[in-house]
Amino acid sequence: MAWCPDCRTQYREGVERCADCGSPLVEDPGPEPEAEWDPVGWVTVEETGDEVEARIIEGYLLEREIPVRILSRHDHELPTTVGELSTVEVQVPEEDLDRAIAALEEVDGDDD
Ligand SMILES: [Zn+2]
Repeated sequence: MAWCPDCRTQYREGVERCADCGSPLVEDPGPEPEAEWDPVGWVTVEETGDEVEARIIEGYLLEREIPVRILSRHDHELPTTVGELSTVEVQVPEEDLDRAIAALEEVDGDDD
């Protein structure tokens, strides 16, 4: 089989160039190119207004080998006179959510 490496269109044997883009066809299109977006479904495990707190949580989760990403969202629609308002979301892959919640509960338990 012949494939266009750019359009990933399949052509019948004997065709040498892609009809759409003119690329020379290849026998094997190879693996799908990596998507721009992250294929992992990230879910928010903690939302806080304090980026320092978010970094601490990140540290706890990373210690437990749970992947973490932090989304910081500044709200520019609110007047700046109330100070710098932002929401920081700590996200983990959906598959690690249970472990992340358990890890954070463990941390909270230290308060007593
Ligand atoms: Zn093509």
